[in-house]
Amino acid sequence: MNFEAIAAKVQNGGRLNQPEAVELYQHAPTSLLGRLADSVRARKHPDRVVTYIIDRNVNYTNICVARCTFCAFYRPVGSAEGYVLGFEEIFRKIDETIALGGGQLLLQGGHNPDLPLEWYEDLFRAVKQKYPQFKLHALSPPEIIHISRMSRLPVEQVLSRLITAGLDSVPGGGAEILVDRVRKLLNCYNKATADEWLDVMRHAHRAGLRTTATMMYGTVETLEERLEHLFRLRELQDEMEGFTAFITWSYQPSHTELGGSEATGIDYLRTLAIARLVLDNFDNLQASWVTQGGKVGQLSLAFGANDMGSVMIEENVVRAAGAAYCMDEIEIVRNIENAGFSAKRRNMHYELLGDPIFRDRAVPRMLELAVARADGDSSRSPEISRYAARSAAEKKARLTGH
Ligand code: SF4
Repeated sequence: MNFEAIAAKVQNGGRLNQPEAVELYQHAPTSLLGRLADSVRARKHPDRVVTYIIDRNVNYTNICVARCTFCAFYRPVGSAEGYVLGFEEIFRKIDETIALGGGQLLLQGGHNPDLPLEWYEDLFRAVKQKYPQFKLHALSPPEIIHISRMSRLPVEQVLSRLITAGLDSVPGGGAEILVDRVRKLLNCYNKATADEWLDVMRHAHRAGLRTTATMMYGTVETLEERLEHLFRLRELQDEMEGFTAFITWSYQPSHTELGGSEATGIDYLRTLAIARLVLDNFDNLQASWVTQGGKVGQLSLAFGANDMGSVMIEENVVRAAGAAYCMDEIEIVRNIENAGFSAKRRNMHYELLGDPIFRDRAVPRMLELAVARADGDSSRSPEISRYAARSAAEKKARLTGH
């Protein structure tokens, strides 16, 4: 089938198979891909509402043993630049998030060998005790696998204990490309194979959690492998119906071991559009303005996206790789309305919470992103010494006091 016949099939509500998606992705003009994706967006969201969430992206530690070659964020065990946030620091970040009208943390971090399952349980319990209504969208599948391996407990049991402690939903990070050839080349096969990533999500869905799904493209994968990733997600969504949304972003090469160059804006829009067409069982697609900037983020709303993601209060991972776009609620709403949509706040389950907060009351403007830790702050988390140290570096730090 040529791409025109496939486009007609999509317009009639037909489901793409893999060879058809390859043909469209490789040969359809960008304007046609955009029109098709926009028609799917309009079918799923006829009210022209574009949503966003006020939450804070907190990276509790940057110490990581996984060492993915595309990552500029992590520091090896024992690095002078390594950190673990203390519970009080995390509480302060929650207070600031609540002041801006937020009700959730997106909590992710490195694979730190000195943080056992109990550290996460104690943190979640402490957050829920102090802020009973506050939500924890926390720990991507590779982090859950890391905790499962360290604690020698199956993933189901780790998830169940984390849920009891206060885990509300699981972010879809660490998926990169769900094809093992690619994962081996990026040194992220050991942290989680494609099957292992999907399996954590299957367990989370079975346990009643909703999760998101992501894709980081633009490293060493082929276009066919990007599509294989999308089809694997579609298959799991057919089976479990647990994904709330899909988010894709391009690899950010600065300061990474892998290096290379960043995918273009057109590549991003084509990838977003093909994802909207393949993932016909996903309700929501986010625009990734954090990596693409506000202007391409706004254009995403014409290429299949119906959500602007999060008001960015703090960002550490993408910034480490050279991108630091910042939009507060006023700026996000301006971009949504200027594109001809109405802007509504939502929660993690994509339930509408209401109109923009700043129209009800004055909120502080966020014109610069916060960071996990101020430069030069090398204070040690007071909680970490409650748990047995595993790494030689942490054992030494306890003996020497730093
Ligand atoms: S991407 Fe995550 S798992 Fe990989 S090195 Fe960075 S922090 Fe570690």
